[in-house]
Amino acid sequence: MANDSNRFQAIISHCKEYGFIFPSSEIYDGLQAVYDYGQWGSELKKNIKDYWWDSMTRMHENIVGIDAAIFMHPTTWKASGHVDNFNDPMIDNKDSKKRYRVDHLIEAFSDELRAAGQNDKADAVLADMDALLAKDDFAGLKKLIEENKIKCAVSGTYNWTDIRQFNLMFSTEFGSTVSSEDADNKVYLRPETAQGIFVNFLNVQKSGRMKIPFGIAQIGKAFRNEIVARQFIFRMREFEQMEMQFFIQPGTQKKWYEFWKEERLKWHTSLGIPADKYRFHDHIKLAHYADAACDIEFEFPMGFKELEGIHSRTDFDLRNHQEYSKKKQQYFDNDIDPATGKPYGNYIPYVIETSIGLDRMFLAVISHAYTEEDLSTPEKKDDRVVLKLPPRLAPMKLAILPLVKKDGLPEIARQIMDECKLHFRCFYEEKDTIGKRYRRMDAIGTPFCVTVDHQSKEDNTVTIRHRDSMKQERVPITSVKELVLNAIR
Ligand code: ATP
Repeated sequence: MANDSNRFQAIISHCKEYGFIFPSSEIYDGLQAVYDYGQWGSELKKNIKDYWWDSMTRMHENIVGIDAAIFMHPTTWKASGHVDNFNDPMIDNKDSKKRYRVDHLIEAFSDELRAAGQNDKADAVLADMDALLAKDDFAGLKKLIEENKIKCAVSGTYNWTDIRQFNLMFSTEFGSTVSSEDADNKVYLRPETAQGIFVNFLNVQKSGRMKIPFGIAQIGKAFRNEIVARQFIFRMREFEQMEMQFFIQPGTQKKWYEFWKEERLKWHTSLGIPADKYRFHDHIKLAHYADAACDIEFEFPMGFKELEGIHSRTDFDLRNHQEYSKKKQQYFDNDIDPATGKPYGNYIPYVIETSIGLDRMFLAVISHAYTEEDLSTPEKKDDRVVLKLPPRLAPMKLAILPLVKKDGLPEIARQIMDECKLHFRCFYEEKDTIGKRYRRMDAIGTPFCVTVDHQSKEDNTVTIRHRDSMKQERVPITSVKELVLNAIR
């Protein structure tokens, strides 16, 4: 398992230095597990969003998108089970007062064992943990921590409290409140986007005249009061999800679950990231709503970790919303059931969910793209950092660089800019040597640079430089736009 913390640190520094990701409110020393996307990060993030949104809604005629509010009626979270079940077992160190999620504490310990070459012991500890978690055996988990002498990273002591459950939802109050204890005014920041889809299921089905099977997709912010949040944008308190709920006939869930597993893996590999960077991990302990579930794991710099979840959610959510809202959440299926020769009639649909963290996808893409290259020759030491991003995701598609700031070259470059900027994001720069400008574009992953030189004035050609191979070729100015468009389509 690759566990390259130097590489991870280098990626985090690169993200900051080149305007991809900054710690939130950094001038006040940041806010833990909250991050801001900078000028290139927000472009890359938007391109990932568009790629997901288009593949869901444009490539599937039976999937439509919505954009629901972050605030929802508080009963939503009673019905969904989040008020009662969205808990994680936590343990506090009495000396440092630091709180840990029990599974994270034990996982970090097993990573240490692995780093020390004790793989068998690491596996055994994780297997014990899984078994105890499945039984909610908190006393057993505490014993496991104590027996293995797992200590607090801050105080270095083994002085632990008992294990308790903590709810991960953030809450706030609506309107002007006399008392913040007033339960009527309490609203939650949604911990997942899925419920915004469920409560709109009938609105969309009726207004869009949707026929089962059909899906509703959504991209939006979600909030979780994660206790241990120290893996950069892998685990944040405010993050974004791209979720799709696919509504189906009860009894067909196995078929559709397999369909979406395959479909989602195809989406990932269609970006050109090698298939061996991904693997499925089937859940043994199922969430309260699921009858089958798996993760698509990605090989992040800190090893294989969950990137996306695919869940067969049965009719759990719609049935509960029906019960709590007292409004029927049924669909009338007038297709003929071959077994009875009659329409299938009314039922509460079953649901397959695909749920991917946008920020985790960002981390997957950028960590795979990040490449340090040694370009030294016998004469000269040289190296570069290049982001080998899939061209369609790159923040900038084309850099347009006049060789010098005079002799009419900027004017030609501006003409190319005007021609191309309507079609894709371009970057114009005339400062510094051409070599320095190329390296800056490599560092933000720009797949193409064109250089306008004196020959351009004579024969209307430019040099186009390819980011990954660094090969340069002379092409007519008129072909630049098509060349880039072909690479990003
Ligand atoms: P984990 O086990 O890592 O906490 P989860 O199983 O709770 O994740 P889900 O509830 O299935 O996650 O959420 C779906 C997706 O949302 C995850 O696959 C992940 O990509 C993303 N996600 C969940 N929590 C976070 C977070 N705190 N920060 C960033 N992304 C997250």
